[in-house]
Amino acid sequence: MKISDIGEFGFIDAVKDNTIFRPQSVVVGIGDDGAVYKTTAGMEQIAVIDTMVEGSHFIIGKTASWYDVGYKAVASNLSDIAAMGGVPTHLVLSTAIRPDMDMADLTEMYDGMKAICRKYGVNILGGDTVLSKGSLVITVAAFGEVEAGKAICRSGAKAGDVVAVSHCVGDSSGGLDVLLHGAEGYKRLTQAHKLPVPQIELGRLLVAHHCHSLNDISDGLASESNEIAKASGVVLVLDRARIPVSPELQQWAAAQHTDCWHYVFNGGEDYELIFTMAPRDFDALQQEYPDVTAIGTVEAGKGCVYLQHDGQQTLLPPSGWNHFRNEGEHTIGYNDARRT
Ligand code: ADP
Ligand code: MG
Repeated sequence: MKISDIGEFGFIDAVKDNTIFRPQSVVVGIGDDGAVYKTTAGMEQIAVIDTMVEGSHFIIGKTASWYDVGYKAVASNLSDIAAMGGVPTHLVLSTAIRPDMDMADLTEMYDGMKAICRKYGVNILGGDTVLSKGSLVITVAAFGEVEAGKAICRSGAKAGDVVAVSHCVGDSSGGLDVLLHGAEGYKRLTQAHKLPVPQIELGRLLVAHHCHSLNDISDGLASESNEIAKASGVVLVLDRARIPVSPELQQWAAAQHTDCWHYVFNGGEDYELIFTMAPRDFDALQQEYPDVTAIGTVEAGKGCVYLQHDGQQTLLPPSGWNHFRNEGEHTIGYNDARRT
């Protein structure tokens, strides 16, 4: 059955059930002009939004299933809430749908959304359905809350802080490459790309452990670390040897004769966290949550990132790791920026 067979209202009817996973905070859900929800006393509200476009963010049958699309459209939003230290509570969404789309595919996309919403106790409070003559577009806006005054910004890094990341970096873009090549195996990488895990639990622990600055890694470590350095007006010095890279990513990079650092610094959609905090607080955090790795330190200075490796420090621009792109050109703009 095509969506054009049942129309906009038939579609809404087909997807509106099983959308409430945090019932205590909903007054009115899907079905009226607007949704009505309650907030928690003492908490401040967080709002985020993200859009995914068929063909640019995903290719059905190649890099994602419809289930994955729904799951990831929500995951990227929950990651932004995690990156503020918040608890996600609700979302609304907008879908621009081709008239010839199969209801089974759309239902599968909603199954993906509902699965992650169930997992993290997030309500789907409503949406908008419009016709698209081209690609499917899905926009999700999510809401969350954090204790008043406790949201963790990018701007709070202080000289003397430890710089750390969660889990491994680069798996998702490695996974995208695996999928685009149609290669078998590398499940860890392809899962990281298709069904990313928003780091909500860690975000909450970072609030509890007085984290100073926080960002999620949606555009690669080079870009995200520079965002913290710039917003905080400090220098981040990263030690390449300490950056956690999964054996699977190293294996894939070796098999492709590519540089795994390209995925780490320039890749995207890891949805891991990069953060800075006082060394003592970091030790306490690590006791409670071992899957975090110190990768560098914060120094006083003017909003840039240095990468330490083989006894040298070189500037790491937000655009990332140039070595891969300039292969054969002797790492232009990279070695030239050596710090003395
Ligand atoms: P209105 O015309 O008042 O904007 P709609 O007819 O667009 O309302 O939507 C009716 C109800 O269905 C609203 O509660 C809206 O939030 C919900 N809704 C519409 N489209 C979607 C969608 N794609 N997913 C979830 N809920 C939706
Ligand atoms: Mg109305």
